[in-house]
Amino acid sequence: SAQLPPMRVTMRNLSTSVRRQQLNSDVRITRTGKPILTVSGGRSSLGGYTATVFGATGFLGRYVVNRLARSGCTVVVPFREEMAKRHLKVAGDLGRVVFLEMDLRNTASIEESVRHSDIVYNLIGRDYPTKNFDLEDVHVEGTERIVEAVAKYDIDRFIQVSSHSAQLDSPSEFYRTKARGEQVARSIYPETTVVRPAPMYGYEDRLLHRLASPANIITSNHLQERIRPVHVIDVATALERMLHDDTTAAETYELYGPTDYSMAEINELVEKEAMTSRRHVNIPRRIAKPIAYYANKFLWWPIHSADEVEREFIDQIIDKNAKTFKDLDIEPVELKSLTFEYLKGYRSSSYYDLPPMSEKEKREEKKYLHVID
Ligand code: NDP
Repeated sequence: SAQLPPMRVTMRNLSTSVRRQQLNSDVRITRTGKPILTVSGGRSSLGGYTATVFGATGFLGRYVVNRLARSGCTVVVPFREEMAKRHLKVAGDLGRVVFLEMDLRNTASIEESVRHSDIVYNLIGRDYPTKNFDLEDVHVEGTERIVEAVAKYDIDRFIQVSSHSAQLDSPSEFYRTKARGEQVARSIYPETTVVRPAPMYGYEDRLLHRLASPANIITSNHLQERIRPVHVIDVATALERMLHDDTTAAETYELYGPTDYSMAEINELVEKEAMTSRRHVNIPRRIAKPIAYYANKFLWWPIHSADEVEREFIDQIIDKNAKTFKDLDIEPVELKSLTFEYLKGYRSSSYYDLPPMSEKEKREEKKYLHVID
């Protein structure tokens, strides 16, 4: 029995060293042959890739940064507005999410943001022109500056997030400039991976929440446009998967949901989940476009733009040659399965099931003020 304690210690040492060997053995080689050593441990992993995410402060950016940072990547977040980026800090371990101030016209700040990275994502986009940036500035010139910096510092991978229906001859300026952005990116950095997401939904979306908002629904096409909405987390998962799969370089991906809906059908789903119906006002295009144009020019908060009115008349175009979720082994989730999750907050409080009143409460006419659980 005197021999037992040293024996136990030996077994424990053995298992620790085996575990340590497994942890250390994870070496990945990037497309250009750079070894990336990772010591796995979830968000506290050591080593790993360094990724820059332009447009991280937006809707999709939140989920992309979250997925990268929680797997131990160092994420560089170029930002414009102090308050817009704060929620991203906690996505990763201490020091893993690095903020750098950036301006789309300041080349030095863009170069600073990309130069230490193994992969750069460009998620920057705007649905409407703003006071200082029109759509061309954001989608074409901005992309050009970013890709030039990526090429200059010989970054391994560049992923450009474009848009569904991006076509050079589209009647919508948004789709046209997105297509030109893809072209510019590929001309400077031919291995650019182009990702065209369908309209995305999630907690901060501008699809379900616009239809569910208490304001009237104002449209020009009687909610007749057809789209294939996609879950934002599916798109973020696809973007993360591209980091680990170098065969995705130079490819084009169209990421859309499994079902084709008209906006009227989506509106029906929204009304059913929110248990309410909104007033729908249809303004013809020839009147809505000039109103939206001037409103967008003179009001300083985001408002429906003339180009968004035009986009209502364009059904989502699917490029048959592009790769899809299937090529990334991802099964996109069905919109119907998530509408309750995203829209339950719009239900009126009168729909909560209150427990039946007891006889005593009825006698005393006691009213429930609140119900816990
Ligand atoms: P958001 O509008 O939520 O975010 C856009 C991001 O781009 C923000 O981080 C914003 O920064 C940044 N940005 C915009 N203009 C500028 C500028 N002039 N200079 C610097 N940064 C700028 O977009 P989403 O997350 O919804 O979409 C991500 C990408 O996917 C975009 O390119 C979008 O066009 C595209 N897309 C989105 C769809 C959708 O349904 N949401 C559908 C199809 C394509 P800041 O916070 O500082 O304003």
